[in-house]
Order: sequence, then C-alpha cells, then structure tokens
Amino acid sequence: QPVVDRGSLELFIDVLIAHGLQARQARAHRRDVARGTGAALLTAQAADAPKAGAPPAEPTYLTAETAGPDFLLQGEYGGDKLGADVIALGKDTFRLVLHKGGLPGAGWDGSAKTEVEGKRSGEGVSFAGAIKAELKDGTLSGQTADGEGFVLKRVVRHSPTEGAQPPVGAVILFDGSNADAWNGGHLDERKLLAAGTTSKQAFQDFTLHLEFLLPFKPLGRGQGRANSGVYVQNRYEVQVLDVYNNKTYADGQAGGLYGMWPPLHNAMKKPGQWNTYDVIFEGPLFDAEGKVTRKASVTVLHNGVALHHKQEFNGPSGHQNTPKYFKYDGTGPIRLQDHGDPVRFRNIWIRPLGEYDQPEK
Ligand code: MG
Repeated sequence: QPVVDRGSLELFIDVLIAHGLQARQARAHRRDVARGTGAALLTAQAADAPKAGAPPAEPTYLTAETAGPDFLLQGEYGGDKLGADVIALGKDTFRLVLHKGGLPGAGWDGSAKTEVEGKRSGEGVSFAGAIKAELKDGTLSGQTADGEGFVLKRVVRHSPTEGAQPPVGAVILFDGSNADAWNGGHLDERKLLAAGTTSKQAFQDFTLHLEFLLPFKPLGRGQGRANSGVYVQNRYEVQVLDVYNNKTYADGQAGGLYGMWPPLHNAMKKPGQWNTYDVIFEGPLFDAEGKVTRKASVTVLHNGVALHHKQEFNGPSGHQNTPKYFKYDGTGPIRLQDHGDPVRFRNIWIRPLGEYDQPEK
C-alpha cells in the first residue's frame, strides 16, 4: 500500500510551493525595506499575529477621564497657512508635526512636514529644536524653522459620515441597544460594542457602515498601537490600527487590505476620536470546479476619504501566508478582530446591494 496517496501528495507539493513563495516574498520584502521602497505585496510581520484575549502589555486608556493630561493636549491645531499635529508618545513626551499651508485637507500644500520633539511640564508643552513652540490652553504658538511666527488653535474635525443613518433596506447590526446580532457580542459600560465578535448573519454583496474608537496607547509604536480589524465575510481584513502619525509597514496601516494592499491615504483621527469606515464589498464567485471566476473586491472610505476603489483580494487575508481561494458559498459574517486591544464600535449597519429594477411583465 502506498503511504502517500495522490491527494495528499498534491497537498504536500502545494505546501512546499507555498513555503517557497513565502520565503521569496519575505526576501523581497526585506530588500524593499532595506531600499526604503516599502510596499511589498505580502509582508510577513510577527507583530500582527493574533493575540486573542491577551491583556494589553502597555498602559491603555479608553476615556479622557482616565488617560491623563497628555491625552488632552494631542490632536490637530490650525491657523493661517499652517497646520499641526501634536502626538502624545508617553511619559510626558510629544512630537509636533508642522504642515505648510494648513492641516491635511484644509490647506496643506503636500510639501515635506517638519517635526520636533517636546516635553510637558505642568499644563504646557515646550518644543525646542529647529522649530520652537509652546502649547498651552488650546493654543500652539512659536516659530517655524524658517523663522516665521505662528499662532495655531485647537481644531476638532469629524468624519462626514459620522452618525450616518441606515438607509431603507439596511440590516441594523448594532445601534447601541444590544448585541443580539452578534455571536460573543459584549457591550461595555458606555453601550459600545467591544472588538472580538462576529455577526450572526452572513452577507454576500453589500455596503457597510461602521464607526470605531481606538484606545490611547501612549507607549505603543507601529503595530503595537491600538490594533484591530474588520474581517469581511470573516475572511478579508480591512486593517484597523492607530496610525495617527504612527508609522508602520505599508499594508499594515489602517484601511490596508492586510498583507496585500496599502491604503491610498492615511485619514486617521487621533486616539479618542471616532473614525468611520464606509465599505462596498462584493464576494467572490466560483465555477463548478471551485475555480474563482470573480475575486472578492472592496471599496473603502475612511472618514470620507477613499482608500481603495474596487480593489481585489488575492484570497482570504492571512498572516505570513500566500492567499489562495477555496470554494465556498460566497457569503460570510462580519468579524471585528480581537487583537488584544480594547477597540470599540458603534452605529453598524449593512445593506445588501440587490439588483437593478427589471421591466414589469
Ligand atoms: Mg488587524
């Protein structure tokens, strides 16, 4: 009797090929990183390995009341032909990023940003370097590296789709009243839905609206800052990560199709502010032999900004693997990834795309 039948031999060869591809792509990624060119299609980062249920390793704050004074100082500041981001990095340290022309989307001319580090003392933060600035009482005043004086005021901008109401035909997955539409759904004391849950209902082609709140992890860096994900059909991840002036590898950014495509833009709000995702998704189709005839594709708007337009998934999202389609019925639930951080969600609704009206008979 042969020990290895044809089926398992083919599987074995598949595994060998997949390992070979992985090794090649990992080498390509390392080369890209070394060259500073970044966006390898399939990155292999141990940082995003699922850590379901693991307690946050670092201080993690969900509310302004608990987060301390640094939390209240970070955010956007705007004024005449200049915009600034103030990022809290823990232990009273800060980074100031200046945008010439104004805040991104509100005047920034796209030129190189300038940065300086700062330190909080009492209620104020002092930045000293090529740029000099003082932040106090909601006002950031100082001098640019070119010696020009500025006075910037705190600005809070909201997503244009924050609070979007479900249209006719929508299935309401979460409106703050209960978690009945979710398996393992948990409401916190503020009636927000906690990450780490999967919708009971499955969907094929649809529009999805959801809002998410990221905790403040002042010592977190890269993938170690607030991290979660929206798994469409429980297979295809639209990454959730606090990338408010937080650098990470290209396809690991918020809105990245994890391991495949980086987002076109970084539209992240500072920790503690609500973000929106508006997603249009079409599930894959398969022929009788199980071959994919239409790949899953997605359009993602983050805070109203398009990050992907009808972008195709190479297969289900994975960690350090080569995606590959396996036949299924083309439907699946929505999973809100538990990556160990207390990420919260609200106002979640989904509307099947449906079909064009047909002539009356
Ligand atoms: Mg994730």
